[in-house]
Order: sequence, then structure tokens, then C-alpha cells
Amino acid sequence: MRRSFSAPGRVNLIGEHTDYNDGFVFPAAIDFAATVEITPRSDRIVELASEHYPDTFSFPLDDPDAKARRCWTDYAQGVALVLHHSGYPLSGADLFIRSSVPVGAGLSSSAALEVSCGLALAAISGHSISRLDLAKACLEAENEFVGMRCGIMDQFVSTHGCADSAILLDCRSLEYRVVPLPASARLVICNTMVKHQLAGSAYNERRQDCETAAHQMGVPSLRDVTAAMFAEFADALPARIRLRAQHVIQEIERTERAADVLMMGGLTLFGRYMYESHESLRDAYEVSCAELDLMVELARVQPGVFGARMTGAGFGGCTINLVDAQYVNQFRHEVAAAYHEATGIAPDIYVCRAVQGAHEITT
Ligand code: ADP
Ligand code: MG
Repeated sequence: MRRSFSAPGRVNLIGEHTDYNDGFVFPAAIDFAATVEITPRSDRIVELASEHYPDTFSFPLDDPDAKARRCWTDYAQGVALVLHHSGYPLSGADLFIRSSVPVGAGLSSSAALEVSCGLALAAISGHSISRLDLAKACLEAENEFVGMRCGIMDQFVSTHGCADSAILLDCRSLEYRVVPLPASARLVICNTMVKHQLAGSAYNERRQDCETAAHQMGVPSLRDVTAAMFAEFADALPARIRLRAQHVIQEIERTERAADVLMMGGLTLFGRYMYESHESLRDAYEVSCAELDLMVELARVQPGVFGARMTGAGFGGCTINLVDAQYVNQFRHEVAAAYHEATGIAPDIYVCRAVQGAHEITT
């Protein structure tokens, strides 16, 4: 019998490049999702097909020599193999994937793909897997099989998302708090439509810089460095390492404070933290780009905008804007026109709702 499963993409409101430093992030699952139709097979083969790509790919679950092919199928195959070898033995199946998550735009189409496939495979194999185990299996697949050293934010929010809420996640303890989003504000995502080459290599370089900084300060990760400690150590660090550490240490603190403020309905102050986050990512962490900076500046001068910042790893992709519901249409129109005029590129602008995490679609 065919069944369907869905897993959302996400947008991070604040807390960028903090997840792999054991810090706080504050994402929401959004109403763009990957959906998998899955049909069991009687053999031990998994066949993958996606509406987005012409090729299909089959692999045996029990092949001990399975290797990544540097192709979209790696995400799904990786999750299948991790689950299969970590206490969730799987049955063969045909999977057909559709996704409304923009690919490669920083809204985590990859986690949506991993989580939807992982949940589908576990379910038809008779397992009821916890959301946390599913998120961890998907992270391991992306880290070890795909070879992308991302933190756990994307997989966690795709599994744990809550309607109309963001999630304050402590990436060290994996404890989290659900924070309702004020009904008067909308999450508006502006896609710059650019992706600069640097994205992949720079991500791993930033991680390396953070590890170097933590090592030089004698702590396991930058999460362990307080502002006072940093003030003491900062001068001894090389300039670049110091700037990277400064962003992460301040951003971790800012994220926790921002979530508290939003909990109390403080949209204006929350928005100010979003701008601060952007400036720090631009000037200290150096992962922004001209198009992202422009998009933030265009948003800043619009009426009804509480805050704006780049979201995701950077070097292109999207900004997240918190906008008064009454001004959303005007915002869309004005920002799209101004960005087009300045760059010649027509941006996509999405007004998103925060939604629940991965689940089976029952009709
Ligand atoms: P992001 O997660 O920000 O969208 P990534 O580079 O991490 O960007 O992941 C994008 C990759 O995920 C794509 O290049 C593709 O390999 C895979 N992917 C995403 N969505 C789909 C889909 N619907 N079908 C097949 N592969 C997909
Ligand atoms: Mg991704």
C-alpha cells in the first residue's frame, strides 16, 4: 500500500553559525515541504526518484561498500543506510519525492529531503522512531555520507517544528523551548536568487576557525566562552580567528536574549537583534554578500519592518524579515521592485507560516 510523508524546510530567525559551536539557534519550520510517496517492495532494494531530477537510482540495503555518488540521491541513501545500521532495519521500497522547498536557497531543502525519506522508510519498515532519533540519523547521513559538516539545526526543526511557533534550541543539550510567534507579525523570506561559489568551502573554513579559537582558549567549544573570558583572551588571538569567535560568542548570547524578548511580545527589540546579527555576520564572520546586504538595507527602510537579516549559511540565498502583517503586501511590492532595479534580478519573496514538523499525510 502506498503511503505519504512530509517534512518541512525551515527558516532561522536568529542564531546563525552557532549550531556547530554548541550554541543556541531559533528556527521555525515553514510551509514549504518535501513529500515522499512510498511503496513497499518484496526485495531488499530501495529505488529513489524525484520530480526535480530525471534520473532514478536503486541501491541494495545490505551493500557494505555503498558510497556517496555526489548526487541528490546521497541524502536519501545516506539516511536509509544510517537507519538500517543503527537499530532500524529497513525493508525495500520505491520512493517518489516532490518538494516545494527552494533548492540551495538556505531554507534546508536537504534536511526536508532527508527527514521525509527517513520517516517514510522507518514507518513502512514497522518502526516508530522518535523525532530526536530521526533528526540524529539525518544529521549523521549529511555529515558522514554526503560529507557536509552541518550542525543539527535543520534536521531538528524539520522533525520538531510547531505551528505558529519558533523553536529555541540548545544545540549542546538538545533541550528546546517552543516560542509562539506574535500573530501581528509575518515571516517574510526574500530570496536574492544568487549563490556564490564560496559557499561550500567557506563553511568548512569557518568551522575550522571556530575550532581553532576554542582550542586556543582551552575550551571544548565556543559555547564555553563567556563575554568576560573573551575580553581576557581576545588580544592573544590572530585577528581573523578573533573576529570569528566574536561573532559566535555574541550571537549565542543574542539568540537566547532575543527568544526571551519575543516570548514577551517585544517585536521591536527582537528586530534590533536581527539587524545586529546581520551586521555581525557581515563584518565579523564575513559570510554575507552584496546582494544579501542590499536586501537587508532595502527592507530596513520599509514601513512595518521590525527586523531583517541574512539567514542560512550565507554567500547568497535568503534574508528573513519580520514584518507587521498590515504592511506585508506593500513590503513585497516595494522590496521586489527596488531589488530588481538595483540588480536586474527579480527576487522571489515568500510570506511563510510556521508549521508542524515531519508527519504522515493521512487523507
Ligand atoms: P539547502 O538545504 O539550503 O536547500 P543544500 O545544498 O544543503 O541546500 O541542499 C540542496 C541539495 O539537496 C540539492 O542540490 C539536491 O541534491 C538535494 N535536494 C533538495 N531537494 C530535492 C528534491 N526535491 N529532489 C531531489 N534532491 C533534492
Ligand atoms: Mg542544506
